Amino acid sequence: MTSNINKRKHQNEEDKTLKTFTFKLGGIHPEENKFSAGAAIERLAPGKEAYVPVSQHLGVPAKILVSKGDQVKTGQLLAQGEAFISANIHSPVTGKVKKIDQYPDQSGYKKTMVIIDVEEVDVWDDGIDPTDTVIREVPADKSMIIEKIKEMGVVGLGGATFPTHVKLMIPDGKRVETLLINGVECEPYLTADHRVMLERAEEMLIGIKILMKGLDVQRAVIGIEKNKPDAIAHLAGMVERFPGIEVAPLKVKYPQGAEKQLIKAVLNREVPSGKLPLDVGCVVSNAGTALAVYEAVQKNKPLIERVVTVTGKGVKKPCNLMVRIGTPIQALIDHAGGLPEEAGKVVSGGPMMGKALNSLEAPVTKGTSGILIMQQGETPRKEVANCIRCARCTVVCPMGLEPYLLAQQAKLEMWDEAEGDMIMDCIECGSCLFECPSGRPLLDYIRVGKSKVGHIIRTRKN
Ligand code: SF4
Ligand code: SF4
Repeated sequence: MTSNINKRKHQNEEDKTLKTFTFKLGGIHPEENKFSAGAAIERLAPGKEAYVPVSQHLGVPAKILVSKGDQVKTGQLLAQGEAFISANIHSPVTGKVKKIDQYPDQSGYKKTMVIIDVEEVDVWDDGIDPTDTVIREVPADKSMIIEKIKEMGVVGLGGATFPTHVKLMIPDGKRVETLLINGVECEPYLTADHRVMLERAEEMLIGIKILMKGLDVQRAVIGIEKNKPDAIAHLAGMVERFPGIEVAPLKVKYPQGAEKQLIKAVLNREVPSGKLPLDVGCVVSNAGTALAVYEAVQKNKPLIERVVTVTGKGVKKPCNLMVRIGTPIQALIDHAGGLPEEAGKVVSGGPMMGKALNSLEAPVTKGTSGILIMQQGETPRKEVANCIRCARCTVVCPMGLEPYLLAQQAKLEMWDEAEGDMIMDCIECGSCLFECPSGRPLLDYIRVGKSKVGHIIRTRKN
């Protein structure tokens, strides 16, 4: 490990910012509460029914190819992503299509799902290798890699669920030099990526190699916060066998897992307002996504399962589960010892950016990184008081915004002013909300403002 870290330090010795290995502007240090960090990934058996949404990704929902009564195999294509930004959806189980219906997803809104009566034994679709045998030789054909990732429905597993094959299609005139792998997992409580980096390191590194081939880059850097020393040591030892891949240990600071903050921390490059990582020569992908890429390309295995952390202060058995897509969240909670008596709310994701669930029957999707059960009173919204102009929200904002001002502009519907003050740059990290002593609902207002200003900008362009 030491040699790898020293190598990076040497490479970056002319850049003082890089030596700190973190982003500079704003950020906070919430309690980490990584209770499930030591829990090895367990496989959760599918339930009696699977609820498979046809939209689990950013972009256009996939077009359904099956009908009620159809028999489906595990990994069979259920719905095809036909638009440029869309993704294929595959059956996570073997069974019979019970119905295609509207059913509440994690947002609480009804969405189109394929509901399957599950049979106990998996019959895998033709060509899929579900074994643990590691296939090390990486294909050389860039377009075949991109096509296979598309075919297997791989999307970003860090939460954004952007289709991975689209990320690899670099527009003419743009150039990528570095692939950045996000192993930060800066949200408190969550440990799914941590376990992947420890337990599936070789496959993940092969997945990174495949992504490097797909992007035609010679360098990849895995950013990992120092609260995961075992993952840093493990991967730093292994990358000796993977030329071009480095490990960058990072200071612990939220929201370092956000793309722009990670790029600043690792590469010391600033992505300008309204621009993409691509504009500063890099593409960012998540550690879990690299594993999904490995399975897609080397094993012909579609994205039908993922690692989900189930955790919380009152949870009997905090765990990391390999779960089939479409499994009701209740089944995960049952496995972790059931809902604690003092349970307050259940959140999909982490406490900072996760969304409260209103039904535990909603299914796991490709973007479900964790299920967090918060105790009653664990996150009491402070009583809202007047803004005391302390500027703490501004100090912690990693995007250099003035959250108190943006919230006020949104409240007063001052859309031009909010646009001018860069409301669209807000990454909704919640740091301002976390820090505000007056309990101002800053992010609630800012989200409304972003939605309105975004609509105005889109209308202006059309
Ligand atoms: S939620 Fe938005 S405004 Fe608040 S700190 Fe994060 S980026 Fe800044
Ligand atoms: S942190 Fe809260 S009280 Fe302080 S300036 Fe911001 S909104 Fe006002």
